Amino acid sequence: MAEGHAAEAVDTDICVVGGGPAGLTLALLLLKSGVRVAVVERSRAHQREFRGEILQPGAMRLLDELGVLAGARTRGCHEHQRFRLVERDRALLDIDYRSLPTPYDHLLSIPQAHVLDELLLHCGKFEGFSYLDGRRAGGLVKDADGRITGVTADGPSGKLTVSAHCVVAADGRFSKVRRLAGIEAGRSDVFDLDVLWFKLTVPSGGSDRERDVRVFRAEGAPVLAYDSWPDKVQIGWTLPHGGYQEVVAKGLEHTKEELAKAVPPYADLIREQITSLKDLTLLDVFSGRADTWAVDGLVLIGDAAHTHSPIGAQGINLAIQDAVLLHPILVDSLRRGDASAAVLGAFEERRAADIATVMRTQRMQSKAMLAHGAFATRVRPKLAAILKHTPAYGKILRKIAYGNPTIAIAGELFVD
Ligand SMILES: Cc1cc2nc3c(=O)[nH]c(=O)nc-3n(C[C@H](O)[C@H](O)[C@H](O)COP(=O)(O)OP(=O)(O)OC[C@H]3O[C@@H](n4cnc5c(N)ncnc54)[C@H](O)[C@@H]3O)c2cc1C
Repeated sequence: MAEGHAAEAVDTDICVVGGGPAGLTLALLLLKSGVRVAVVERSRAHQREFRGEILQPGAMRLLDELGVLAGARTRGCHEHQRFRLVERDRALLDIDYRSLPTPYDHLLSIPQAHVLDELLLHCGKFEGFSYLDGRRAGGLVKDADGRITGVTADGPSGKLTVSAHCVVAADGRFSKVRRLAGIEAGRSDVFDLDVLWFKLTVPSGGSDRERDVRVFRAEGAPVLAYDSWPDKVQIGWTLPHGGYQEVVAKGLEHTKEELAKAVPPYADLIREQITSLKDLTLLDVFSGRADTWAVDGLVLIGDAAHTHSPIGAQGINLAIQDAVLLHPILVDSLRRGDASAAVLGAFEERRAADIATVMRTQRMQSKAMLAHGAFATRVRPKLAAILKHTPAYGKILRKIAYGNPTIAIAGELFVD
């Protein structure tokens, strides 16, 4: 405890650790169902950069049904009509979201802060909500039988203890709560690549025009690029695992030239605007599936339960859908007064197959779009041309856009 501060204690129904898309969506669903919720979030404002910004139609629909999407959009966003794989000047793959039913017939590039702030605004309308930001969860509270009954956290005003019927770990890919519970992350490095992210200011970036999310393949490594609100382009340069050290060892100018070669349309802006290696953020790409998603008193959701490669922009979709699926399970658990692994485990039972499918699809996408080598380069255009004219094209689009389309909000549990 910090000197001069009394220990703080909060008693609630559900303690959610992590105020990301999974945690805050779950909080709002529970609050609407008359459940008290405390969210413990280590950051004070959503200023963390390079979080996922692309929302798929499935997530948009759920946020809209929760009354959150319109307000988030008003804070600023760009619609993207297509996802394209471009090799030199040729579009190999052109996935057009406009073929999906309106109003969710696009991808949305929206700063994650806009979504989270809007979710928070709605949560804040409920008396039963405690937002404990600036507090880092660092310990688990257990009863005499070893069941988890809360968390401890540290913050500027000292030590905090939250006691709850059940704890939800929604604290992301490096989940501390998962580690404290002794659950293995199940990390797997199947993608064998890292992504270097950076943003450039584009002179015409804010203008109203057709937009798309692109993977460029020019010289060397593939690059992902999309317009980011308000006037930026977000670029992700894929490199073989560990390849970044090799590139930067040759200096800033060499790195810039490699980038310029990889993404020719932005070559001039790269030369002008990248002034230091600090302008570049390295993302270690891996996927993971925690060994178990529930123990007595604790359930894991979102990236804490399953972490994905950024390919196909699935993480937020999945996190929001997880919250929607877990909501009725938690309401039922509270009603029964039973937060055992047997009850909470219903979440993993219902969700595991969806997650396995997404992971398989991502591995396939990664191989199809990012693989190097003469064979892959020769085969890719042929495969892409064939795919365009098969029913599989629409099936893949719907899978990427919606995930499991049967996941629906249990609105019948809402009390307001
Ligand atoms: C570079 C990058 C690009 C991506 N691009 C996309 C994309 O375009 N589209 C997409 O859908 N997905 C994308 N993703 C994935 C997406 O961001 C995640 O899947 C999604 O944010 C997961 O949501 P979550 O709520 O489970 O976890 P997170 O968003 O990680 O939220 C976890 C929260 O927990 C908090 N926290 C962590 N530890 C503690 C602690 N000890 N105590 C208290 N709080 C804690 C964190 O501060 C954070 O707010 C991307 C990911 C990365 C890294």
